[in-house]
Amino acid sequence: MNTLTPILNPLTLPNGAVLKNRLVMAPMTTCTGFYDGTVTSELVEYYRERAGSLGAVIVECCFIDPKGPAFPGAIGIDSDNKIAGLARIASAIKSKGSQAILQIYHGGRMVEPELIGGRTPVAPSAIAAPREGATTPQALTGEEVEVMITKFGDAVNRAIKAGFDGVELHGANTYLIQQFYSPNSNQRDDQWGGSRDNRTRFPLAVLDITHKMAERFADDTFIIGYRFSPEELEVPGIRFDDTMYLLEKLAERGLDYVHFSVGQLLRPSIVDTQDPTPLITKFRAMRSETLAKIPVIGVGGVVNKADAESGLEHGFDLVAIGKACIAYPDWADRIIHNDHLELYIDSNRREALKIPEPLWRFSLVDAMIRDMSATGRKYKAGVYQEKVEAEALKLKINVALDTDRITDITLVPDDTLDVDFTTTFESLRNRILVANSPHVDAITGATTQSEALKKAVSRALATSSKEHVIEEGGNPQAPQNYDVVVIGSGGAGLAAAIQAHDEGARVAIIEKMPTIGGNTIKASVGMNAAETRFQKLKGIKDSKTLFYEETLKGGHFKNNPVLLKEFVELAPEAIEWLAAKGIELNDITITGGMSIDRTHRPADRSAVGGFLISGLVKNINQRNIEVLLETSVEEIIYTDGRVSGVKVVDEYYDSRILNARSVIVATGGFSANREMVTHYRPELDGFVTTNHKGATGSGIALLQKLGAGTVDMGEIQIHPTVEQTTSYLISESIRGGGAILVSQAGHRFCNEMATRDKVSADIIALPEKSAWVIFDEQVRLNNKAADEYLAKGFVVSASSPQELAIKLNMDLHALLATLERYNLFVERQQDEDFGRQTAMRHPLNQGPFYAIRIAPGVHHTMGGVTINSDTAVLDEQQQVIAGAWAAGEVVGGIHGGNRIGGNAIADIIIFGTLAGRHAADFALHH
Ligand code: ADP
Repeated sequence: MNTLTPILNPLTLPNGAVLKNRLVMAPMTTCTGFYDGTVTSELVEYYRERAGSLGAVIVECCFIDPKGPAFPGAIGIDSDNKIAGLARIASAIKSKGSQAILQIYHGGRMVEPELIGGRTPVAPSAIAAPREGATTPQALTGEEVEVMITKFGDAVNRAIKAGFDGVELHGANTYLIQQFYSPNSNQRDDQWGGSRDNRTRFPLAVLDITHKMAERFADDTFIIGYRFSPEELEVPGIRFDDTMYLLEKLAERGLDYVHFSVGQLLRPSIVDTQDPTPLITKFRAMRSETLAKIPVIGVGGVVNKADAESGLEHGFDLVAIGKACIAYPDWADRIIHNDHLELYIDSNRREALKIPEPLWRFSLVDAMIRDMSATGRKYKAGVYQEKVEAEALKLKINVALDTDRITDITLVPDDTLDVDFTTTFESLRNRILVANSPHVDAITGATTQSEALKKAVSRALATSSKEHVIEEGGNPQAPQNYDVVVIGSGGAGLAAAIQAHDEGARVAIIEKMPTIGGNTIKASVGMNAAETRFQKLKGIKDSKTLFYEETLKGGHFKNNPVLLKEFVELAPEAIEWLAAKGIELNDITITGGMSIDRTHRPADRSAVGGFLISGLVKNINQRNIEVLLETSVEEIIYTDGRVSGVKVVDEYYDSRILNARSVIVATGGFSANREMVTHYRPELDGFVTTNHKGATGSGIALLQKLGAGTVDMGEIQIHPTVEQTTSYLISESIRGGGAILVSQAGHRFCNEMATRDKVSADIIALPEKSAWVIFDEQVRLNNKAADEYLAKGFVVSASSPQELAIKLNMDLHALLATLERYNLFVERQQDEDFGRQTAMRHPLNQGPFYAIRIAPGVHHTMGGVTINSDTAVLDEQQQVIAGAWAAGEVVGGIHGGNRIGGNAIADIIIFGTLAGRHAADFALHH
């Protein structure tokens, strides 16, 4: 046993209790209690199996009052008859040699009436939680608050009787204790609310009564811990300095540990997204001597020994292990023996791992389950050598395969190997092995090399899978059977495939390019939706009606009203669909043509495309959905009045038939097909395009052969701000963040926040047919995309407007006057020159100043095939073509004459999932 690792050092807590090492099992909901909150035998065995080598096991939260359970299957400590069951858990844990700590809580306004017999939940104030359908709770009276505190006391007493070594007060996850401290949920005007000091009273009173009970009924080493969520996103809400304030107060009264409730050990602030400092670093810098004496537990993402060690190195005293303890009941033993663990669970091993049924179905665990006996691709075991070629890089790799998985990837030794690539290789190799798929995120800063490596692994898989078929006596070119074939791996295709798979269909995705993501991966600004949970969290009032009207106006009233209505209605659901898949778009901005912040983007404000595709691909991998890269669909086969499959051709020009009762065409638009663009709009000849090479409109042609109708083919959007040397799109979020457009003469010439067609027309009307996007340091700070542009080298930077004018060869006085006048408009929030009404966020006066030369480029093709509201493709006579479905940019009509920024991502997720659902249903049941 390796005793050198600090994670095995014992720790003496302030009260003298000793934990034998630094590892604790994190409290995790199992949903495995009986209907009344008593403990099931399954749960006892689950904990028994996991205790032993860990210092302590913190048992999942237990509700202290009948109105407290926040989820089905919660266990309770609200009455004496719960003690016996809990005692079985405590004894199981202790008999194996770990300390047993019980987490106690009350859900407050996070409780749904159906969990408490239809009664109304209680909370500090009668304010509903900011989520879809949340019930407005009843505010506790002053007297009821006092009673609530005694109930926490009773619960502690019962925990002691049940034999636990300690309790953890659950002051996190927006449950009742946190609700009392939060200025958002607590708007009382008595002694329990109002000032920050008043809001600390409830948590402090709960701690006091806990101490009292421990003093009276337990011995001196009874452990008292406190869990906290460091920040709230809501406005107003708990900020990190508020948390420190409360922790200091709690520390003064005595605690044995404090416990961060976050998803990642080293997570930075979720409020101040510009500050990358991990919260633990801030915590250590800010804490007093008193708080410094109290051990701190970190949690989130600990899978291997190095993760736990890194936690201690960063200043945690203890690390809590969550999912890894579910997947590996003997986790601590394994890492002590230096095993390298991957976070997944073999779908056949639920019983062996003693994972209770309800927990097995819980999303946290569900996401880790891998079907090892999946019908997915099978390989011929062996080592396959492939070339990796990217720019200057030329080398070979060996891909070792077992019959169902990639077992290793090694570089074939070569003296020309550069060190730079070896680091990229190592990181990417790990990603591929963990996901057991070549479809993983590229390494930042080494995208081309990453793509080349992924492609090589993908080829090895394709080759060995063909060899497997031959070995089995089959013919690799023989037709294969699926329920649903999806053409295209952009956002629409991936969303459709995931949904169809989840409906029970056997799915394959065909992608003609060597990489996944289509044009979607290039999307920058975000996803529009009105009346979403995230808007409510931020206090943004919006309406679907307004979203509809603004999209219709932006689309020159040409939009298909049925599809547009459906689009607007389903948008919030689509935002939730993504969130449930781990793709949270919870930051919000605005784009041209909209009057309200409704463009949802990732919390770190990075470009939406990469984030979205990365998240969707993770879901594709988890589901083992097959993706055939560098394989093109040449024909959709139509027999006996319905679609029956596709004919594909792979990169070796081998062709095959894939049988499927449903084919979803998600091939994107045709912006990169010059012939098609100029056929419909001759005046666009010579324009650059922002699109990827694959945007050739092939899906339209495939469907036209089956008689599909088309609509709005001449409606082609040019994006106003494209950097011309690289065809790189300068995101609307830069203007949405406060940038302006300036002509070579140094003047503003349009309302920068008008729709794309108007802004483009204004730029083309300038003598030089191009313009400068100008912004300052404040805009840059709020937009990650700006840093990307800086890194690409096409941004002109200057310390002052004067210097900028010189660098741009622009009339200095004109530029100064323009900035001065615009800043005045910002101050008055009124643009007297061009009527800009949105995103006049702040004056442009903080150096450095930046400029990017831009001109319009072909960006989006609003026209495409016709579909009905089920995404079924319609022929020229508006009749359904049975088995053909389409979603995404290949479809026409939704955006009318002009697509609003942020509406394409909404389109692909909304209609992608719809197509997946209907196509699966049709294939399986008709
Ligand atoms: P959307 O935004 O509608 O999802 P994208 O442009 O992001 O569209 O994705 C469409 C994908 O379809 C691209 O990756 C493109 O390469 C792929 N594609 C287009 N035509 C074919 C085809 N005939 N066979 C296979 N893939 C195709």
